[in-house]
Amino acid sequence: MHPGLWREVWILAGIAAASLLVGALTGRPFPIAAFGFGLYIVINLRHLRQLHRWLQNRQSGDIPDAGGLWGDVFDELYRMAKETGRREAQLSEMLTRFQSAASAMPDAVAIVSRDSEIEWANPAAARLLGIRYPQDAGMRLLNLLRDPEFAQYLQSGEYSEPIEIESPETHEMHISVQITPFGSLQQLVIGRDVTRLARLEQMRRNFVANVSHELRTPLTVLGGYIETLRQIDKIRPEELRKHLTIMHEQSARMQRLVDDLLTLSRLETSPPRTQDETVDVAALLAGLKEQAELLSGENRHAITLEADPDLKLLGSREELTSAFQNLLINAVRYTPAAGAIRLTWRARDGGAEFVVADTGEGIAPEHIPHLTERFYRVDTARSRASGGTGLGLSIVKHVLLRHDAHLEVESELGRGSTFTCVFPPARMQRAEASRSAHNAA
Ligand code: ADP
Repeated sequence: MHPGLWREVWILAGIAAASLLVGALTGRPFPIAAFGFGLYIVINLRHLRQLHRWLQNRQSGDIPDAGGLWGDVFDELYRMAKETGRREAQLSEMLTRFQSAASAMPDAVAIVSRDSEIEWANPAAARLLGIRYPQDAGMRLLNLLRDPEFAQYLQSGEYSEPIEIESPETHEMHISVQITPFGSLQQLVIGRDVTRLARLEQMRRNFVANVSHELRTPLTVLGGYIETLRQIDKIRPEELRKHLTIMHEQSARMQRLVDDLLTLSRLETSPPRTQDETVDVAALLAGLKEQAELLSGENRHAITLEADPDLKLLGSREELTSAFQNLLINAVRYTPAAGAIRLTWRARDGGAEFVVADTGEGIAPEHIPHLTERFYRVDTARSRASGGTGLGLSIVKHVLLRHDAHLEVESELGRGSTFTCVFPPARMQRAEASRSAHNAA
């Protein structure tokens, strides 16, 4: 038995013994018993009242002082109260920490009840999901997120996968929302901005559709001619030659498309080069000018080249050749016969620029920002007819990006266009440096 309880038993036994003793001596045991037990009850009632008062007003008063079993009870209660206080402080600190961490999160976080009433939300929830806390506390989630698919998701109770919806704040923002039930009565709603991913996915879909579309036409033409050739003995020789020429053109078109796609994919996926070559741009351009003249053929464009031979560029000769070639081919393609094409390689702001200026058909201003997008063409039929793939300027953009350079386009409808590749000073091989390297060799 508990020692405190023993003590109480001894007191009661003492009172009983004293009453019996006095009763034996005087013949009247009851007054002593009544007095002893009464005093015992009064003392206990007093302690009980003290305990009641303390329980009612725990914060302000100290725990009452008492001996015996009451003292033990008071001590135990005091220890429990202290422990509860410490736990409460710990919990409230954890809650504050959780709230400040959730507030700093870029993702939307909201806590809703099982009835989908908003209990709490972080600041990002306002931006992504239009849930403003504390103003919207108690509101139903579906009153704020009115997307029918989300309503279905919420009601289904099947939350293993997130759902993608448009943000109620702006239709341009795509949000991936996932619900996670926790505890027995609450749900965590997490919203993540996936606009960039959605855009990339759309780009991927467009890309696949574009490539398929580009390949379908030549394949259909080829298929048609192959079908005709099955009855080769019925075809006249001159007709056969015509068929083969068209088949050759179509296969060349597919070849160009695949080559351009491979170049683009290499540019996008290969890591940046660690070792740059010193590219003699003037010499490279002299070679490209000759190729452009060949391509121009009977159109007899007046192609001129002005290049500073001392300006050498640090980069990849292969990639730069591909970019410059694309600009030159475009100038030849989109400039009518006898037009002029001027190529210039010169210093600019400590760096250098390569300028291709033509007197061709020009480009309307609304098209200019889109020219470097894959498969973007001002006049699709015209581009295809001249052997274009719609990927040339995308290749130019990527090559320039890999050389810390950028493309400037100026154009006027009917007057001509100027494409300028601007290279920063860090990409230049200084004349002295190249000369000393040359001497050392
Ligand atoms: P394409 O293979 O169709 O030439 P590009 O990406 O090289 O593809 O060019 C995209 C579009 O930009 C072309 O289809 C054409 O409409 C326009 N363009 C490019 N260069 C010129 C130019 N020098 N003059 C006029 N239009 C041009």
